[in-house]
Amino acid sequence: MGKLSRRSISIHEAGHVCANFFLFGQPIGAVVFDGEGGGLCTPSPEAAEPYNLSTAKTAKELSSSNDTKITARQLLNECVFFAAGYCSQETILHECGQMLYFDNGDNRLITGHFLAIHPDASEDEITGFLSLAHIMARSMVKRYKKYILNVALQLNQRGTLTATESLEILLATLAQVRRI
Ligand SMILES: [Zn+2]
Repeated sequence: MGKLSRRSISIHEAGHVCANFFLFGQPIGAVVFDGEGGGLCTPSPEAAEPYNLSTAKTAKELSSSNDTKITARQLLNECVFFAAGYCSQETILHECGQMLYFDNGDNRLITGHFLAIHPDASEDEITGFLSLAHIMARSMVKRYKKYILNVALQLNQRGTLTATESLEILLATLAQVRRI
């Protein structure tokens, strides 16, 4: 993965945290690991361990086959949530020329979810859906950039945010935004 800045990983995970809140109305926790460990957006950050890409599953294995009844809108929302990590970094860091922390697991999850609903999808259709999820995530990131920056700052400083702490930061940002 190369050199990852902790700030970059924090921005990635903060993107997931904010997407979870604004898409699903649920606060969620996050953790950043030092070294090559990357980060995770999870309801139980205290118990989380570094994500091991070498044991990561393939897109097909990640297909949530029990979720075949979900609507297209739900599917898209979930995939916008996955894309929000990368798109946060892209939007916030790219201008500074900083290296992106690319979590390949996110794209695999998007592909897996899409294949669960459309098992016969072509490569072109999968690529198209990945693009759509990223376009929508980018527009969400732009709208909620201030929230992402505040969550990322605290995550970078503390290393771990519980769902309750994330909610506090989101609400404090809301109050800030309203005063402006
Ligand atoms: Zn991610």
